[in-house]
Amino acid sequence: MRCGSNDIVKKVRAADIGRKTTVNLSLEAYKDPDALFFPGKHRAPLKADVCVKCGYVSFSISVEDAIIIKELQKNVD
Ligand SMILES: [Zn+2]
Repeated sequence: MRCGSNDIVKKVRAADIGRKTTVNLSLEAYKDPDALFFPGKHRAPLKADVCVKCGYVSFSISVEDAIIIKELQKNVD
């Protein structure tokens, strides 16, 4: 990765502690960010690749999620 090592742990779950359970870190995009009840939210779970040599972490989402988020973010400044 950044240091040139190929010793990478792929697709590690990125988690945070929710109120009662562990939740996935994720990206969220909204069709209508100002809507009170139905913003048309799309959530894309982040997966982390970790370099074992230097500890560098990079996040990614699925290509399908990336396409949807691109569409939803069109009207966001
Ligand atoms: Zn590295």
